[in-house]
Amino acid sequence: MSIITEEQVKKLREAGIEVPNVNSTCIWCSACVAIAPEVFELDDNGLSVVIAADSYNKEDVDNAISACPVDAISWEK
Ligand code: SF4
Repeated sequence: MSIITEEQVKKLREAGIEVPNVNSTCIWCSACVAIAPEVFELDDNGLSVVIAADSYNKEDVDNAISACPVDAISWEK
């Protein structure tokens, strides 16, 4: 699995597909990875990143957003 690129985010958003984002406040607790392993993974620095995909399960991402202790996850605006 690979990390989504800015270009891929742009293409999905142009197609009307919502994409999650993780900001730099992530404290690498891995809760989001446990909840939605098809959406998030930890990178080499231990920070959560979004995996490239054609679409993202809204319920899984919303659950990860609720579980994140530092509100690092959001839907891309
Ligand atoms: S739940 Fe939040 S703090 Fe924990 S790894 Fe995911 S983004 Fe980082």
